[in-house]
Order: sequence, then C-alpha cells, then structure tokens
Amino acid sequence: MTYDEALKSGIAYLEKHSVPNAHFDAEELLLYLAKFSKADFLMHRIDEIPENLENDYVLLLEQRGQRIPLQHIIGEQDFMGLTFLVNSDVLCPRLDTESVVERALQLAGKYENPKILDLCTGSGCIAISMYHFLKQEKKKISVDAVDLSEKALEVAKKNAFSNRAYIEFYQGDLFEPLTTEKKYDMIISNPPYIPSRVIDGLMPEVRDHEPRTALDGDEDGLKFYRLISEQAKNYLAPGGCLVYEIGFNQGEDVSEIMNELGYKNVSIEKDLAQNDRIAYGFL
Ligand code: GLN
Repeated sequence: MTYDEALKSGIAYLEKHSVPNAHFDAEELLLYLAKFSKADFLMHRIDEIPENLENDYVLLLEQRGQRIPLQHIIGEQDFMGLTFLVNSDVLCPRLDTESVVERALQLAGKYENPKILDLCTGSGCIAISMYHFLKQEKKKISVDAVDLSEKALEVAKKNAFSNRAYIEFYQGDLFEPLTTEKKYDMIISNPPYIPSRVIDGLMPEVRDHEPRTALDGDEDGLKFYRLISEQAKNYLAPGGCLVYEIGFNQGEDVSEIMNELGYKNVSIEKDLAQNDRIAYGFL
C-alpha cells in the first residue's frame, strides 16, 4: 500500500464514522506518524508505506473514529504560532481565541510595563502568548495565571517551560490565591461560558473529552462574567483593562454586566468567523 492509498482509506474510514473534516484529520494523523511535513508527503505519496506505520495508522484512525479529539491523539495544538501540549485536563486552544489574544496584545501596547493576569488559564495558551509577544516589544512585563485545576496547571507549566515564558502560576478559585496589593493593567479570561443545558448537545469531541469544568458557565453561561467583572475592580489598576472571550450570543449580556459595574468604553468585537467573541472595557 502506498502513502496515498493509506490516506485515501483513512479518509474513507473517518467519513464512515462521521468525523468532521475527515480529510484534514486523516492527513494530520498520517503526517504525524510518518513525521512528514506536507512537502515530504507529496514527495513520498507513491512510496510503499512501512507495515508497522500502516498498522499504527489504523490504531490512530480507530481512536479518531471514536471521536477522541485529534489534538488529544497527537498531543499538541498550535496557537498563535506557538506549540502547546494538550490533554483531557485542559480545553484545546481554539482559533477563535487567537482573535481575543490579538486584541489583548494591541490593548496592552498602551501600558508601559504591563502587568497581566490570566484567569482560568487552562493550557496556558493566553498567558503564554501574551508573554511571548509582549516580551519582544516591552522592557518589563509580568504575567500571572490562575486555574482551579491542579492538573490543568501541570499542563500550563509545561507549556510555559517549552515556550520559554516566565509566568507565575497560582492554583485557586478566580482571584482567591491573589492579594489586592498587586494591581494589574490587564485581566484576561476565557472562562467557562457554555450554559449547562447546552453541553449535552455539543459535539462528542468536546462533550465527552474536554473538561466540563472548563466549559460549564452555569444556567445562563454568564456566571463567571458576573463574578470576574465584579471582583476584577479590586485587582485592576486605574485605567486597567478587562478582556474576555465570550460566546457568540453573549455580547449584549456581557456588555450589560460590564456597563452596570461601571466599566468604561465597553466594546464587543467579532472573531474571524464574524461571531461576537471579544468583550473589553476599562476601569
Ligand atoms: N469556545 C468553546 C467551545 O465552543 C468554549 C470555551 C469556553 O467555555 N470558555 O466549545
């Protein structure tokens, strides 16, 4: 069997198991196993695939056929051009979140030595990207990150190490492990925001394999926006900025929460798919 034939049968197998983007995933799994770039693959497509590789490919396809997320099988996900380790203890970094980070980076430009806090850090992808890109333009930056989950923090710490980001990690419930003596210029969060009853209807990759605590925003999905927006006022420096990732239909609710609490210039912005995704305002 050639690489090309292996890929074709991989696509057919995933399609049979209703995996979305069967072509993309079948190819990613094959490239991963063969340690091929896409260019390598094109050069080798009519070569014989070694038998052990073919057998391993079948095993990975079976996992993907059971709707285990591609990123969990491969063990990593790219985000903002950096590579992040992922497993079932953290939410996989998502493309939508890159829009949030890009806006946050631009907003952070106005602080001289930005002190940044990332709440519900998960894999650490937001905190680490902020550190990575701000470090290139600022003399001094500080990034702290909090998560409730000890296991998520283990992943985040490995990601910080592999991406050479110097971040203070704290375990605890939102602001609980912090002191109000340290004020931040920017607080960013991608909190759990899916309404509880919606979770059962999500795709199996998310519903069955990603941590529910990272998704569940309580009855109306807004619990963490209320809690964080209220408490953030004690931790933001004057003129400081609160930046959120929000669900596609939460723009109005989140801007209302922020406006009622006195945040200024509250804005809602869209991601690349034209869904409301970013909310921010200033103290
Ligand atoms: N965007 C994620 C999803 O659609 C949810 C992220 C979150 O709850 N913070 O699955």
